[in-house]
Amino acid sequence: MVNEWIFANEKNVGEIREEFPILQNKINLVGNDSPVDLIYLDTAATAQKPLQVIEAMSCYYREQNSNVHRALHTLGETATALYEGTRAKVQSFINAEYRHEIIFTRNTTESINLVASSFGSNLGPEDEILLTEMEHHSNLVPWQLLSERTGCKLKFIPINEHGELELDKLDELLTKKTALVGVVHISNIFGTINNIKLIIEKAHFLDIPVLIDGAQSTPHMPIDVQQLDCDFFVFSGHKLYGPMGIGVLYGKEKFLEKMPPYMGGGDMIRSVKLTGSTWNDLPWKFEAGTPNVGGAAGLGSAIDYINELSFDSICSYENMLTKYAGKLLSGIKNIKIYGPAENRSGVFSFTHNDLHPHDMAQFLDRFGIAVRAGHHCAQPAMRKLKVSSMARASLSFYNTRSEIEYLVEKINAAGEYFNNGI
Ligand SMILES: *Cc1c(COP(=O)(O)O)cnc(C)c1O
Repeated sequence: MVNEWIFANEKNVGEIREEFPILQNKINLVGNDSPVDLIYLDTAATAQKPLQVIEAMSCYYREQNSNVHRALHTLGETATALYEGTRAKVQSFINAEYRHEIIFTRNTTESINLVASSFGSNLGPEDEILLTEMEHHSNLVPWQLLSERTGCKLKFIPINEHGELELDKLDELLTKKTALVGVVHISNIFGTINNIKLIIEKAHFLDIPVLIDGAQSTPHMPIDVQQLDCDFFVFSGHKLYGPMGIGVLYGKEKFLEKMPPYMGGGDMIRSVKLTGSTWNDLPWKFEAGTPNVGGAAGLGSAIDYINELSFDSICSYENMLTKYAGKLLSGIKNIKIYGPAENRSGVFSFTHNDLHPHDMAQFLDRFGIAVRAGHHCAQPAMRKLKVSSMARASLSFYNTRSEIEYLVEKINAAGEYFNNGI
């Protein structure tokens, strides 16, 4: 039974759920008399936060708030230690070789913009960036902007109808002109876990660096950037049970050292004259202005929380839940589920033959079920599959089998409700 599932910190799912304040709240639905339980199935958009993350941030603002790196006073040193302490936690969380290879940004989007802008600054019309057809807009639009600015060309690894990369095309697409490969680790639409190890190996054979969009993978599987041997790896704190407003760019020292600053301002300089400046060392060269120290406090606490749960427990529980959801959802009449049947994460995008995804999401919302509907920030992939919109349910270790059963019951009810033309 699911409530008997024990995580590495010796807590069962019920106890884990109690650590997430928002999951205890009832939600008041418009037009409903009594509030209902929240069934949160939108973790792929943002994860809920455990109490200790909320408290770490509250504690920071109540007891530790001060600017970092500049102050000689005690509070300033405390804040600096906290901020740099989170950098050390991130370093060991993804097993980076050096602490200065961890750059704090606002989110995945900003991390990719930083790389596109800085790494991409000396590209020209002869150069190509190889992406995939399943990228999130964040790993597409920054490269389009770069292409407009420098004339570099964008190429794409195609996807098939199961939302998988056609990797047999890779050898042909990787050429001497390829300046960088950018690929999503786990698709936020299909749940596909991409074979990035193979892509990295093939790219490195031609000395081409690879950027991995880890927004969906960092919360659900252990990441070892040295073992993957990727050159850039990016993710967002808020999808990792941490706060919004802090994200990470990991980059290999040899690239970051050579790359010019992305933004100018305080903290990123060594010396400033009116006519020119020299840059600070890594990682601060890329961290202009006052950083999000409160966010770092929350992110550090989120990493502690995940480590306590352990990825062993998280992965086995989430795999069990994903298999269960896959089985139950594929049994529903009139819906089509996208993405691969095997080797996938707990992201389930689907369409219903008889009703629009927005109607589906609104119907489910009446029962407190939070799913997403829309293009999931990946319009090209949707276009390729000839759908304009999908509903999406995404899972986490704080979800239960009974929540999935409830989802399935209500998807069925939605079909009947709309079919009866009420
Ligand atoms: C959410 C997401 C992003 C963007 O993350 P932000 O936090 O909005 O910057 C990028 N890629 C994938 C795969 C995502 O799921």
